[in-house]
Amino acid sequence: MAKTLRLILGDQLNLQHSWFQTVNANTTYVLFEMQQETNYVVHHLQKVVAFFAAMRSLANTLQAQGHQVIYWQLDHPKNTQNLTENLDKILKEENFEQLEYQWPDAYRLDQQLQTFCASLDLPSKGVDSEHFITQRADVATFFGNKSYLLERFYRHWRKQTGYLMDGTNPMGGKWNYDQDNRNRLDKKAVVPKPMPLKNKVADLVALLEQEGIQTIGRIDAEHFIWPINRQQSLDLLDYFLEHCLENFGRYQDAMHSDYWLLYHARLSFAMNSKMLGPIEIIEKAIAEYERNNNITLASIEGFVRQILGWREFIRGVYWAKMPDYEQENFFEHQRDLPAFYWTGNTKMNCLSHAINQSLDYAYAHHIQRLMVTGNFALLTNTHPDAVDAWYLGIYIDAIQWVELPNTRGMSQFADGGTVATKPYISSANYIHKMSNYCKSCHYNYKAKTGDKACPFNSLYWNFLMQHEKRLKGNRRMSMMYALLNKMSAQDKEALLLQANYYLEHLEDL
Ligand code: FAD
Ligand code: SF4
Repeated sequence: MAKTLRLILGDQLNLQHSWFQTVNANTTYVLFEMQQETNYVVHHLQKVVAFFAAMRSLANTLQAQGHQVIYWQLDHPKNTQNLTENLDKILKEENFEQLEYQWPDAYRLDQQLQTFCASLDLPSKGVDSEHFITQRADVATFFGNKSYLLERFYRHWRKQTGYLMDGTNPMGGKWNYDQDNRNRLDKKAVVPKPMPLKNKVADLVALLEQEGIQTIGRIDAEHFIWPINRQQSLDLLDYFLEHCLENFGRYQDAMHSDYWLLYHARLSFAMNSKMLGPIEIIEKAIAEYERNNNITLASIEGFVRQILGWREFIRGVYWAKMPDYEQENFFEHQRDLPAFYWTGNTKMNCLSHAINQSLDYAYAHHIQRLMVTGNFALLTNTHPDAVDAWYLGIYIDAIQWVELPNTRGMSQFADGGTVATKPYISSANYIHKMSNYCKSCHYNYKAKTGDKACPFNSLYWNFLMQHEKRLKGNRRMSMMYALLNKMSAQDKEALLLQANYYLEHLEDL
């Protein structure tokens, strides 16, 4: 066999990959910590630490299994901080005869490697990362010229995989139990403590500081909470199945100021770094559902839909729509995010909680991302580039293939409706219904105008008026516009005035 160099990117930490099943003296694996990856956006400190720690751990495991591994830390003297320059150096210096890599999930890296490989005078080959259930092009092929709809794709893949199926019918007779999954946190609910993980990562924090890497957020380097190897990821999955799945569906959309984590899985980092695969997670969850009578069909279906449905759908949308997707700005919004997105320093309690917990843990759950920070960014006409940069930086699980369609598409509707059928906007009503945030807020969730009126209220109606031409034809918006049309001209005027005041004083809210 030719002397082969195999590249492993930071989000390709799949120990189960067929690459690693045999040890070969002619094969060397290479991993780089690079400024190219730490600096394309300002990341949360925990995110950079988690990826580097998990990469180091994989490299150590491979070495212990007898594989040959080259690992360049961020401060390695030969490290050019650029992926293809590093590869070029090693290929030449060590006389490799061919290069192999797993297809990257980020378009940017895919392009970079393709260009590099085309310039090489030795053979190169890309292989599947053996992680996803569907292929890159499956969404584009499945829908063709038709509108993209998660539900159709999801049902198709339920049938294909047989998950939660009764022959050709969905188990329980319904495909989707979303309606059952919209509870506010019950006062009597006993929320399990997040599984304690206590990785020590002070050396990595010091390295980032020494190399001048700019980051956001805070860290407890002695009790680092994210899994950094496959065993810890499996432990986290087991903990979720044992303690959280039972209530996952019921409280999937709930928010509460006492908890940064409710019954969510916290598995997105383990999955997006590929330490865990979606199939093993789904199958273990279904096995737990079959074993534990307390887990409802609504809970397990809600969980399976997130992974088999949303996660695969989102990835397919990314590959169907890139690179143009990165430029979409349906509403032509131009504003920047207010500074409190980086400090959490705002009188709006919901935003303060969602942002502060993101700074503390690099984590917020879906509804916090969608209906608090995302909703506010959309209602305040923020440029999708600014929103993307924030989400791509702050969350532990943010890799562009999954961040972009969720943020630009689902949350900001900047794609004009490819991912979401209508913009996800709401007034304070929704936040009040799903959380306890409003109870102790400086603002009054009931008031639309006046001194302490909740900003979400006037901004919501302002948004509807502002974009009436673009949105009126959308059938899913008809109820909202019917309500708007019932309003007197005077009320509308007062709402516009209030919203304009808030828009001009965003930094003070
Ligand atoms: P749970 O709520 O327990 O769900 C289980 C798993 O389902 C998740 O781990 C995740 O892998 C998958 N999942 C659920 N919803 C989605 C979704 N919409 N898209 C893809 N996978 C999904 N998820 C990311 O992984 N990376 C991102 O950068 C990201 N950015 C987001 C930005 C916005 C504005 C929004 C609204 C959502 C974003 N999501 C992103 C989706 C979702 O919020 C996270 O996957 C989830 O909060 C991760 O926490 P968890 O593991 O506890 O998930
Ligand atoms: Fe958020 Fe408004 Fe409720 Fe305050 S009153 S927590 S700003 S929704």
